[in-house]
Amino acid sequence: MPVKPSSEARGRNVLISGASIAGPATAYWLNRYGFAVTVVDRAATIRSGGYPIDVRGTAIDVAERMGVLPQLRTVHIDTRKLTFVDAGGHPIAAISPEDLAGGMTSRHVELPRGVLVSILYDLTRHMQVRYRFNDSIDAIDDDGAGVDVRFSSGAKQRFDIVIGADGMHSNTRALAFGPEAPFHRYLGFCFNLFSLPNELGLSREAVIYSEPGRLAGVYAVGESHLLQAFLNFAADEPPFRSNADVDQQRRRTEELFRDGGWEVPRLVAAMRRADDLFFDTVGQIHLPRWSSGRVALVGDAAHAPSFLSGQGTSLALVGAYVLAGELAAHGDPAHGFASYERLARPFMEANQALALNNGGTLLMPRTQEELDARNEILATMRTSGPAPSYGERTSQVHNSLKLPDYTHLIVG
Ligand SMILES: Cc1cc2nc3c(=O)[nH]c(=O)nc-3n(C[C@H](O)[C@H](O)[C@H](O)COP(=O)(O)OP(=O)(O)OC[C@H]3O[C@@H](n4cnc5c(N)ncnc54)[C@H](O)[C@@H]3O)c2cc1C
Repeated sequence: MPVKPSSEARGRNVLISGASIAGPATAYWLNRYGFAVTVVDRAATIRSGGYPIDVRGTAIDVAERMGVLPQLRTVHIDTRKLTFVDAGGHPIAAISPEDLAGGMTSRHVELPRGVLVSILYDLTRHMQVRYRFNDSIDAIDDDGAGVDVRFSSGAKQRFDIVIGADGMHSNTRALAFGPEAPFHRYLGFCFNLFSLPNELGLSREAVIYSEPGRLAGVYAVGESHLLQAFLNFAADEPPFRSNADVDQQRRRTEELFRDGGWEVPRLVAAMRRADDLFFDTVGQIHLPRWSSGRVALVGDAAHAPSFLSGQGTSLALVGAYVLAGELAAHGDPAHGFASYERLARPFMEANQALALNNGGTLLMPRTQEELDARNEILATMRTSGPAPSYGERTSQVHNSLKLPDYTHLIVG
């Protein structure tokens, strides 16, 4: 049973910034170990966002230990095929997503991101985790014995520990480690993500069309009446930051995809109208350390792998489990954070590397030569399936961390 924050939680009063995946998952485990937890998020409430995410490998074990795995399995969206098409919409190859990601169906669940966020939020708000929406950390002052936090609402509070689970462009990281630039590894692409009505009659599948340096695609999540669409493009330098002028980014994307084949004109028109357009660079976060004093990072804030790895969500869940367990196992944050990093870093880095090995070449060919080479790989996959070693290697990395057992630390 979860415990109430009480005198038991003295010295264990934790603030987590970010109420998406890493934040609530860390809150869940810390609460079970007797910590008093507050989660702050700048958004008005949890974000629904419909794009599909994956929980796989070691993260399946974390979900099982949290007791949510049966619930995740009931909402599994079971994407059946990924079709690569040519300019006329004719299939070049149709493959199973598991062929790309290391097929182990018993160790994989795919679900809309917003559904996972809701499951974790519901789980933790019925515990004694306090949520504070519409607020953010403005300043932190770590004096070695605790952290004084000033919120943008003007409120001030002292915590024993602060955890940044606020994503790729983490605010907590900026406050504790400085600006993002030295930690951001740009992978040479940008993406636009938005939804449009499912007028293509697709279900449980994705369709991808590539031209050199440009990729357009749609994802039919389950039987949804909406498609999740993306228009991605290569750029040697990141052309603008995630919070760039939205009209400028629409115009630039429109210009880049002018005269595109397949359904590109339909997607560009939908992108122009979309009220849920999300733009960002494709990149990773690499930090020499994930903690500084009494402040630590978890999830994308610490080691974003980029969507090319398909592992961001799994890494967030695994990191949350190890961070909370090691904090509980060690009396003080310095030892807890060091142990968390020692255990988790090799796993996180191996998964980050998948984005460079797998996703880049198959999903983002930049030149006609790379595109031809990709089409040859797809043609081989179509006739003889993926090379078994390919999926096996990927799957080994997904499953490569043996989780420590912290059951004895659970309170109540
Ligand atoms: C287009 C796209 C496709 C993806 N596809 C996949 C996929 O197929 N498979 C997969 O596993 N992963 C995928 N991911 C990655 C996945 O979404 C992330 O890796 C995962 O959500 C990381 O979780 P997180 O909790 O660390 O951070 P996030 O989910 O980014 O959450 C950060 C939270 O912090 C909050 N926040 C931000 N700034 C502040 C602030 N200043 N103050 C307070 N709160 C703040 C935000 O509101 C948010 O709630 C994809 C991501 C994108 C963008």
